[in-house]
Amino acid sequence: VGIVRASYALPRARVATAEVAQAWGLHVARGVDHRAVVSWDEDATTLAADAIAELAQAPLPASAGVLAELDAILAATGAPAAATLAEFLGAPEADAIDFTGGARAALHALAEGSRRARDGSRVLVVVSDVGDCEPGSREELARGAGAAAFLLERDGGATLALEAHATGETLFGRQEGTDVGGAASVAARIDPWRAPAAAVAWPTAPVQTPEGKPIEARATLRRNAGELGRAFLAELAEAFREAAPGQRLLVQAADDGGVSAAVFDVESQPTVFGSPHRTHPISYVRSLQERRKVGDWAGAAFGAATGGTAGASASGSEGGPAAPGGVPFRGVEPMGAFVSPGVYLDSIGARYRLEGRRCAKGHVVFPPKSRCAACGAETVGTAALAGEGTILAVTWISRGASPGEFAPEQAAVGEYAVALVQLGPAARLTARLTGLMKADATIGRAVWPYFRILYDQGGTRRYGLKFGPPRR
Ligand SMILES: [Zn+2]
Repeated sequence: VGIVRASYALPRARVATAEVAQAWGLHVARGVDHRAVVSWDEDATTLAADAIAELAQAPLPASAGVLAELDAILAATGAPAAATLAEFLGAPEADAIDFTGGARAALHALAEGSRRARDGSRVLVVVSDVGDCEPGSREELARGAGAAAFLLERDGGATLALEAHATGETLFGRQEGTDVGGAASVAARIDPWRAPAAAVAWPTAPVQTPEGKPIEARATLRRNAGELGRAFLAELAEAFREAAPGQRLLVQAADDGGVSAAVFDVESQPTVFGSPHRTHPISYVRSLQERRKVGDWAGAAFGAATGGTAGASASGSEGGPAAPGGVPFRGVEPMGAFVSPGVYLDSIGARYRLEGRRCAKGHVVFPPKSRCAACGAETVGTAALAGEGTILAVTWISRGASPGEFAPEQAAVGEYAVALVQLGPAARLTARLTGLMKADATIGRAVWPYFRILYDQGGTRRYGLKFGPPRR
């Protein structure tokens, strides 16, 4: 019973901690050279979707057999994301449950997933952390962003053998060398104690055995990604890579509320996906812009922009100019059309999963319409496009030329690319590109879909697919 597949995903952007330390006159955090940081179109939900896509190892997780027929999706991402991720997976019947809180919530989600798997369920557990913290804070020198995902089944894998939870036992210091005395006392209660082959802990610090012997917590990802918060379970995925059947792993999480520990017995080694190596460096200032931390206008624009066409062009009509809501757009004239929540929700299948319609003759109709463009017949069912595509044409939209819903993004981070993408033999669509440098966004290049933030509208975050480099 247990974890049969594990994966993790880190944002590609990296900031050198030395640059942050220099900017604020702070000492460099020991053992962290770079932090993984989110871009404008990434948040805890999209990081979670990335980990799920890694887990599926397919362009579209929705169409991948390995994640079919899930009974539950358990998410610990810091904000409600389980329902959105269920839509992304095309699993509306699955229980979608959010675990709120810090690193312990991530461990609680994994433990609950294990209990459900024991009862015969197929469960997806996903955790993520954007590593958000105040610019100039000491925390900022070390915190990274990332996500991890686990598929749990009744047969095989790594089994939850023991767990212990205690509240109010520890004072969670944020400085390095955090006191983990409280955590040790919880670990000591785990009985029978058998020395684990490896320990994974948040915060990253040695875990004490009952005899007071410290076991070093794994920190494979720390140097080049930073401290991962709830996503510290990415280290567990890495630990599974090296675990032999019969070994035991200790996972421990401490936060403001208390401390939790769990022991996993490796019956058979889970399959692990994820790579820390796909990175590109950005400057600290750029990272602040990407994180929406620069300028009051950026904060004011958040949620105030009016909407229009989506990343994947499954949207409704184009419309006239929309009011910018009093936000100075630096000369950008908003031109976006309002897309009502109803229209948006009706097109979720197309936006999240490239789901079109199929006519009686088998033509795939995308964006989904009631009649087939090829033969005029009525459409009778749904059909997903191939997720793997090729760039046919690219346009870079510079400042002043974007629809209003993208204006805050442009004002903060500059131009973006829209591409005409060929998907399979028949379908073409226009979509935003993501994670591709200008030199790499070339015609003929293979691309895969990425679940990303499109824009914010009326206080609601809208997601959809963009296209970027293949994940394998
Ligand atoms: Zn047709």
